[in-house]
Amino acid sequence: MKVGIVGAGMVGSAAGYALALRGGASEIVLVDKSEALARAQAEDIAHAVPFASPCQVRSGGYAKLDGAEIVILAAGVAQKPGESRLSLLSRNADVFAQVIEGVQKAAPKAMLLVASNPVDVMTEVALRASGLPTGQVIGSGTILDTARFRSLLGGHLGIAAQSVHAYVLGEHGDSEVLSWASARAGALSLDEFADQVRAPITDAVRAEIDEAVRRAAYRIIEGKGATWYGIGAGLARIVHAVRDDQRSVLSVSVVTPQVEGVENVALSLPRVVGRDGVVETLMPALDPGEAKALRASAEMLKETALGIS
Ligand code: ADP
Repeated sequence: MKVGIVGAGMVGSAAGYALALRGGASEIVLVDKSEALARAQAEDIAHAVPFASPCQVRSGGYAKLDGAEIVILAAGVAQKPGESRLSLLSRNADVFAQVIEGVQKAAPKAMLLVASNPVDVMTEVALRASGLPTGQVIGSGTILDTARFRSLLGGHLGIAAQSVHAYVLGEHGDSEVLSWASARAGALSLDEFADQVRAPITDAVRAEIDEAVRRAAYRIIEGKGATWYGIGAGLARIVHAVRDDQRSVLSVSVVTPQVEGVENVALSLPRVVGRDGVVETLMPALDPGEAKALRASAEMLKETALGIS
């Protein structure tokens, strides 16, 4: 499958690298407003290919995206000193309008996978700008937060993260909701599992895991300025689900008709992802506190998205 990546900065190039190493694409094309950057990243990633599976890695203008089935949108501008979040958002919305026009001239049917932050609002911007079906404009959303939640829960319970089914819902950001009530380990509820392995999930354990998931990006940004490897791998995971029509359940962001009474808002819920993009959305059983927090997250995202329309 041919995959395009617009925005060859840290996130876009990490996604390209992860895809190349996973063998997730037959061809990867990097596009950036800096042609020199896209060329350099493509060449660097291409040098990893002999150690992985065959894949052509190129760079170029939008025309090179011809035939791409999926295009990752990782382009964006950095916040200026003193600039408000909303002003940054409007500038990024302008970038997306340009980028999506370029992508759709070359690959009108390509599914869009949005990585630029704030990812939920940018997913809505991309949906509006592209006119594609809702399930074909997918934001990476909480795919990474969910992975971290599972890994920390697995660590506490002494089992592999793959044996934990737990989701982070809502915004990819401060208002995200870790759904403890719907989490399962093996086929058991968390509390049953924790009882059987004598690893109780106390309030302190919950608070520690919540903090570790919610603050992960902040900690990384403090140390290295930005995050890219985790999200790069998460984007490659989504591309795989599409390429192989896996119908995997992933927490990704899509404009959703109604969530906790809030209409038409992009946020993350567990969703079935396959060849046609998101084909089903699932609503986990939440406790009242989680439902309230999800509603607040949805309301905040809705308000932000209205602010830039
Ligand atoms: P991140 O850490 O999110 O990847 P970067 O700043 O490293 O952020 O990457 C963003 C990339 O998006 C930059 O390489 C920048 O050149 C690119 N970009 C910004 N505006 C556009 C645009 N209009 N078209 C294509 N690429 C763009």
